[in-house]
Amino acid sequence: MTITKSQQYLTHFRNIGIAAHIDAGKTTTTERILFFTGRNRNIGEVHDGAATMDWMEQERERGITITAAATTAHWKHSETGEDYTVNIIDTPGHVDFTIEVERSMRVLDGAVAVFDSSQGVEPQSETVWRQADRYGVPRIAFSNKMDKTGADFNLVVNDIRERLGAIPAPIQYPMGAESEFKGVIDIIRMRAHFFTNDIGTEINVTDVPEEYMDKVNEMRQQLIEAAAEVDEDLMHLYLEGEEPTVEQLVSAVRKGTIEKKIFPVLCGSALKNKGVQLLLDAVVDYLPSPLEVPAIKGTHEDGEGVTEFPADPDGKLAALAFKIMADPYVGRLTFVRIYSGTLNSGSYVYNASKDKRERVGRLLKMHANSREEVTELKAGELGAVIGLKDAGTGNTLIGDGDDVVLLESIDVPEPVIKLAIEPKTKADQEKMGVGLQKLAEEDPTFKVESDQESGQTTIAGMGELHLEILVDRLKREYKVEANVGAPQVAYRETITKPVDVDSKFARQSGGRGQYGHVKIKAEPLEAGSGFVFENAVVGGTVPREYIGPAQ
Ligand code: GDP
Repeated sequence: MTITKSQQYLTHFRNIGIAAHIDAGKTTTTERILFFTGRNRNIGEVHDGAATMDWMEQERERGITITAAATTAHWKHSETGEDYTVNIIDTPGHVDFTIEVERSMRVLDGAVAVFDSSQGVEPQSETVWRQADRYGVPRIAFSNKMDKTGADFNLVVNDIRERLGAIPAPIQYPMGAESEFKGVIDIIRMRAHFFTNDIGTEINVTDVPEEYMDKVNEMRQQLIEAAAEVDEDLMHLYLEGEEPTVEQLVSAVRKGTIEKKIFPVLCGSALKNKGVQLLLDAVVDYLPSPLEVPAIKGTHEDGEGVTEFPADPDGKLAALAFKIMADPYVGRLTFVRIYSGTLNSGSYVYNASKDKRERVGRLLKMHANSREEVTELKAGELGAVIGLKDAGTGNTLIGDGDDVVLLESIDVPEPVIKLAIEPKTKADQEKMGVGLQKLAEEDPTFKVESDQESGQTTIAGMGELHLEILVDRLKREYKVEANVGAPQVAYRETITKPVDVDSKFARQSGGRGQYGHVKIKAEPLEAGSGFVFENAVVGGTVPREYIGPAQ
């Protein structure tokens, strides 16, 4: 592919998500990434101990906010010294927030899958992994919590192979584990990185210690073989018996990762700040730029014909709204990813999903601790628009007057759980209506209905936790006191087919294959093919084919 001059900046862009199930360390890893990217930017000097500490104290006092749907950070690659823009797209870890996972997967180009080294691949990490598979997202894996009792890097690597059916490509090997976790060996560059202080900011780089030599030589050989399978040039060298250079190996692993044939595995401890800088280098080295992912497709109005929108700031505007947030300062924020073209503040766009012309007010880029007002957002960029009144999650925005197309959107699943909600006092009544409406605007899986007969208001969502959080937000943000009824599950279904213990079901539920009545909470298994149900009775997840109609 030829890259034009105006596309050049995109080679230094990475749009990534940190995907993990709850408790694996997603928040901690994201915070550390923002810490290091912030530090890198604010100080520009990685090894300046004193300055770093000052900044860290400051940062602690202010607290890092990571609530933005997309946060823009900057990273200087430790080896090449080149500057990269890393947009971090927020992905939730809980299955009740399926729509959030869906929308984030849609707009990111690559992901870091975080695992707890003491737990390996857990059922929920499998869910997140499958979602990423469904959206064709290239991934690198981070075996986190190497400092924790029971931490075992090999467990994560083996589980990736066996439970996820993917080919792991470890590019690091830990030196020690648990309280003895001292550092990591970079298998590609054959160097050891020792973390010499408690917070991982001081790193001593040495040759690979003798005691690890045999192990890492063997692993390097395996890595070369795995990479040769996906890269002809490397295969050629391999067959000739030649040792690849670092650049050749990096390039082959990058190719295999972007093609989703192999998954580089790194390790560290986010909590102790260990391994995060190397993880950021790996994000740059192995995850795709917006130019290396398939161009998004737009379907024409009449359903006939499809146009591809390659990432190009000079192309026609094609953008997807992926999250709506109510902001206390500026009102409604519409987070967008620009796939092609350039979105200008003050311009008019056409919302193809709503058939409406809308005016773009101001544009913002969100950083960890600040917002930056910009006049344009270019292809490959993510940011927030102020002023759009009608755009909802999944809406296509195109240039005013351009041929109407709809971009591949976001699947919105139907709510699965419902509860009655009642204001505590008359004064709460009106505020509750307004609050619920605002919350439903933000979240398409949250539905508000009023029952004609009883006059009762019900709210529906993706799970108990989902509704609990929304009721809590109603209280905090809209000052509405409300009583809620016991949750009613929207469907009650019975498993009709016996479950084969060797089946996917048994595997997904960790071998606890049983069947019986199930209450469902759920998330889509594959686009358009039904749901995986959280089985409240027997535990585990049950694919749709085992579930019959309600009795
Ligand atoms: P999330 O639910 O995936 O966002 O996980 P969090 O980042 O909130 O982490 C869950 C828990 O694991 C918290 O108590 C963290 O302090 C802890 N944790 C995160 N990373 C590490 C780590 O590297 N080592 C250890 N020992 N604990 C960690």
